[in-house]
Amino acid sequence: MPDDCLFCKIIKGDIPTDKLFEDDEVIAFRDIAPQAPVHFLVVPKKHISGPSAVAAEDEQLIGKLMRVGSKIAKQEGADDFRVVFNNGERAGQLVFHIHMHILGGRRLTGPLG
Ligand code: 5GP
Ligand code: ZN
Repeated sequence: MPDDCLFCKIIKGDIPTDKLFEDDEVIAFRDIAPQAPVHFLVVPKKHISGPSAVAAEDEQLIGKLMRVGSKIAKQEGADDFRVVFNNGERAGQLVFHIHMHILGGRRLTGPLG
């Protein structure tokens, strides 16, 4: 767990968040700067820097993000939603601890709209 990782600090409880779900492997919390009426992040507690750092041993854990995220989206009233993972600074990744964005609650069009 790198000391300077924002999401590791959130996982440790050092930085407060609007938490939606937590178990021993995964945490989900609302994005601080929402881009849609429903916008939250689903984050594995294991520090993995991004999609391109996912190892074979992480496959089940990363799949779990989908299952947990879908359940929360439904609870938040967003049956239709978008899933986004950013990989690398030029793709808009700001936090280098892998996280799945879930966006919903408004009409979304095209891959980036
Ligand atoms: P990225 O651009 O790395 O894919 O996404 C990082 C996300 O984390 C951004 O959407 C940003 O708004 C969110 N974020 C950054 N700092 C915080 C924080 O301290 N708390 C919460 N809840 N979200 C944050
Ligand atoms: Zn981390």
